Amino acid sequence: MRTKQFKSESKKLMDMMINSIYTHKEIFLREVISNSSDAIDKLYFKSLTDNNVGIKADEFKIYIELDKDNRTIKVTDNGIGMTEDELDKNLGTIAKSGSFDFKSENGKEENVDIIGQFGVGFYSTFMVSSKVTVETKAFGSDTAYIWTSKGADGYTIAECDKETVGTTVTMYLKDDTDDDKYSEFLDQYTISNLIKKHSDYIRHPIVMNFVTKKPVEGKEGEYEDITEVRTLNSMIPIWKKSKSEVSDEDYNNFYKEKFMDFEDPIKVIHSSTEGTATFKSLMFIPKHPPFDYYTKEFEKGLQLYSKGVLIMDKCADLLPDYFSFVKGLVDSEDLSLNISREMLQHDGQLKLIGKTLEKKIKSELEKMLKNERESYEEFFKAFGIQIKFGVYNDYGMHAETLKDLLIFKSAKEGKFITLKEYVEAMPEGQDTIYYGCGETTERIDLLPQCDAVKDKGYDILYLTENVDEFAVMILREYDGKKFMNICDENLNLDTDEEKEELKTANEDAKDMFEVMKSALGEKVNAIRFTNKLKNHPVCLTSEGGISLEMEKTLNSMPGANENVKAQLVLEISSTHKIAEKLKALYKDDKETLNKYAKLLYGEACLIGGKSIDNPAEHTALVCELMTK
Ligand code: ADP
Repeated sequence: MRTKQFKSESKKLMDMMINSIYTHKEIFLREVISNSSDAIDKLYFKSLTDNNVGIKADEFKIYIELDKDNRTIKVTDNGIGMTEDELDKNLGTIAKSGSFDFKSENGKEENVDIIGQFGVGFYSTFMVSSKVTVETKAFGSDTAYIWTSKGADGYTIAECDKETVGTTVTMYLKDDTDDDKYSEFLDQYTISNLIKKHSDYIRHPIVMNFVTKKPVEGKEGEYEDITEVRTLNSMIPIWKKSKSEVSDEDYNNFYKEKFMDFEDPIKVIHSSTEGTATFKSLMFIPKHPPFDYYTKEFEKGLQLYSKGVLIMDKCADLLPDYFSFVKGLVDSEDLSLNISREMLQHDGQLKLIGKTLEKKIKSELEKMLKNERESYEEFFKAFGIQIKFGVYNDYGMHAETLKDLLIFKSAKEGKFITLKEYVEAMPEGQDTIYYGCGETTERIDLLPQCDAVKDKGYDILYLTENVDEFAVMILREYDGKKFMNICDENLNLDTDEEKEELKTANEDAKDMFEVMKSALGEKVNAIRFTNKLKNHPVCLTSEGGISLEMEKTLNSMPGANENVKAQLVLEISSTHKIAEKLKALYKDDKETLNKYAKLLYGEACLIGGKSIDNPAEHTALVCELMTK
């Protein structure tokens, strides 16, 4: 026998457990039982193909023993057990180190949070125990081992006597304190209630000797102890119950425990499907993305059960990427128990289930959008970006499916609206869906083009996320109405008469713009007068498919080696005083005209949210003018 140290991060977690002030210490029982249940599942699987297992399906069980005198709780299973090596590996290192690291890197070691958010498995036993032993004999092994630990000092592993395959975890409860009455865990009713609350759906029987007092027949006032073995869990998984039998609280608790969230889900989708594919599903939409959602470590997928037995933890094929935020499970009657991962991928049944679930999720989201707008907005804040990428990805293959799930902030309404709502509210004469792009709605409002569109009585959708414009570009139109960036050079709100006037003004100023353009070199494709600016002197618009915002996004992407360039046009207000000034300079002072061209371009950049190419030159020119 030798004493070993815990791996350093396990030790940290262990310390945290021992000193925990977490108020729901009771979860230790759920963790131990869930490990036992997994171990039984593993042996059960083996029994399907290996005749040596020698246990019948109905003999598997988890047995709980309470011992008030010794202050111990024992949880015994006849599952697969652990070899010496496994014992060392599994209980000497913390499996969930990834999630644990995340928190401590952020410098916050709030143990309450970690326990609540991630569930910490076996080590949670140390919240209530001063010593824990694990006696185990692996299937196929002749020797049994006992793992012993009193906490942070490390653990020992030694051979021990154990006849049967399986594992017994013995928890030696800590002494009671003023705040924590650990003895309550020795009470049969407390334990029985805890199992009902947290482990009812465990599909193997959890049994305990229950002692009740019964009057002795014929002897009035005398009672005797009767001991009977009781099964404490119903073994009916929550998803197999009918909706009317399950309360919101049951759903929420189940979700939080199973999917390690500390918040209730925003939506529960429980359904039963019969027909070409027969299955039950229970899905949840979380309120917030899990901490790793936007990292490459995140794995999407639903748990896959076959007739109540878990066969895969994260079946990715059941969820499209744009609904990857959905958590939950599917229990199918039609899948074979020992189907391999590779075979599953080609399983037509699985595809069929996936399609059905996708429709279900979509229709639930649509319902939420229609009937619970506030919740939907909260959902969209958390996961809308996923839907937008869904519209854009795969060359817009899913755009049709997803377009009605999009919402954008409306300038007119001051709140989020759907594309349908935008189109329905369009006044007579408007045939285009206008949108503005920028970091914030305030920034977009500052774009000179905004006023012109608003003055016409047209609404503007604020597109504030990088992916937004790409998504609407893929859509091209909604209900026959084309999308247009208000910074597009084609934005033309003039009457025929105004158009004619502007055309003449531009023709007259052609040579002047040539001079100004040569001062700016490659920076702009053209310079011209516009009517749409009202009180603003200048703006930048873009020709062709790439807007200023798209230029910014594309160039900021990792691996962007080519410099994507928007084709810019410098537009100058034909009615602003500056127009006359330019004309005068063109006549008398071309050198100053060149400087003005640079200054106006710099101003247009600032207003459009583009950084100035040469701030030093710009500033020098401004000062030169100021001191003239
Ligand atoms: P998790 O269960 O999330 O993997 P735990 O810390 O609870 O994390 O357990 C670590 C590992 O120890 C388990 O994955 C399992 O391999 C092993 N283990 C725990 N309890 C048992 C048990 N009763 N029987 C067999 N193996 C077990």
